[in-house]
Amino acid sequence: MPQPPPADARRLVPRTDTVLAEPAVAQAVSRFGRDTVRAVVQAAQESARSGVIAPDEVVAAALAALPARTTSLQPVLNATGVVIHTNLGRAPLSNAAVEAMTAAAGTVDVELDLSTGRRSTRGRGTLTALLEVVPEAEAALVVNNGAAALVLATTALAAGREVVVSRGELVEIGDGFRLPDLITSTGARLREVGTTNRTTLADYEAAVGPDTGCILKVHPSNFRVEGFTSAVPVAALAVLGPPVVHDIGSGLLRPHRLLPGEPDAARSLADGAALVTCSGDKLLGGPQAGLVLGRTDTVTRLRRHPLARAVRADKTTLAALEATVRGPRPPVWEALEADPDRLRARCDALVAALPPGLASTVPADGVVGGGGAPGHALPGWAVALPESYAASLRLHDRPVLARVERGRCLVDLRCLPSDADPVVAQAIRDVRP
Ligand SMILES: *Cc1c(COP(=O)(O)O)cnc(C)c1O
Repeated sequence: MPQPPPADARRLVPRTDTVLAEPAVAQAVSRFGRDTVRAVVQAAQESARSGVIAPDEVVAAALAALPARTTSLQPVLNATGVVIHTNLGRAPLSNAAVEAMTAAAGTVDVELDLSTGRRSTRGRGTLTALLEVVPEAEAALVVNNGAAALVLATTALAAGREVVVSRGELVEIGDGFRLPDLITSTGARLREVGTTNRTTLADYEAAVGPDTGCILKVHPSNFRVEGFTSAVPVAALAVLGPPVVHDIGSGLLRPHRLLPGEPDAARSLADGAALVTCSGDKLLGGPQAGLVLGRTDTVTRLRRHPLARAVRADKTTLAALEATVRGPRPPVWEALEADPDRLRARCDALVAALPPGLASTVPADGVVGGGGAPGHALPGWAVALPESYAASLRLHDRPVLARVERGRCLVDLRCLPSDADPVVAQAIRDVRP
């Protein structure tokens, strides 16, 4: 059909109100807001007036100009084999946690007792859930992240005083964040004891005195010192007098057979730690959060400190954390415990769904990641592709993040639910090498 002359086209261009009343456009308004949608409608009307599109194409052109999502955060498929990938948002939440988070997004009784109408402890259901899993703790507190938990603990217990800590535990947790800087930033002084590889009980004994606010033990989660080493266990530190704060890092609440080298909250508290701090989005498999578990008097000191208000956890976080602690095994543990034979079968099925000769199933170890359990391999399998696929898959509409190893692109299905496999297969087939 020939293009109508511009003068006619102008007359036929639908009015803004008419376009906004179209059901699909009205639905877009509810997602993106009236101003954003009006702007794309007006741009589409302009295109129609100048004859670039036909008048009856205005609605479609306006809708096509809107983004697919309401946020710029792009969901990606983690095929790296790194279970807790900080750059990909660490732990993916379980469906139960997502549901809880969505429910809490409105107005909720996060800090109100409905039976009395009075103010109550913030997120008490979440705290109860944590204490049920870790009865070794008398009290709990949830803050924004593990770093906040640690800084709140050392500030509340040792501002203007000393934090006694081993030189072997003054770690950098990633992206240039160093624990010593974090701890001293709010006014506690570090009293370093021992050496990088060896610290003894006598070193701690010599340093502890009237000026000691707390003894800090940090799990050096992202590296390992091997050979001539010694460190002092929590149980030995706990009898020295000052409260022992144990930053266990990854958030294992109870011991797990798969990761015997990871410290856990229950054991550390049973050994006499006054406080344990950890992250919510590493091995716990929940939302970004910092957990503090320990003695009632010590947790209360933290809760009452002014800094506590600055690191207060959000209602949606509290909801997701409770659902994670109470609910089904989170995706992080599905990935950690993935059965190698099952992974191999999934890889074989994926290879079979690709052009012959393109891919093969190869043995490949996954890792825990998130600065946890370094050197601990998770035996499994991956689909090997030519190296150039890594960048193409990353740039796909539905980005697939693979890893490059020895000149090959490895697609590791460990961290993905099996219903993602056909999506991954399609992304690979879409790549034009
Ligand atoms: C990860 C980690 C932290 C920091 O926790 P975030 O939740 O990332 O703030 C602190 N200490 C240790 C030992 C860690 O492993």
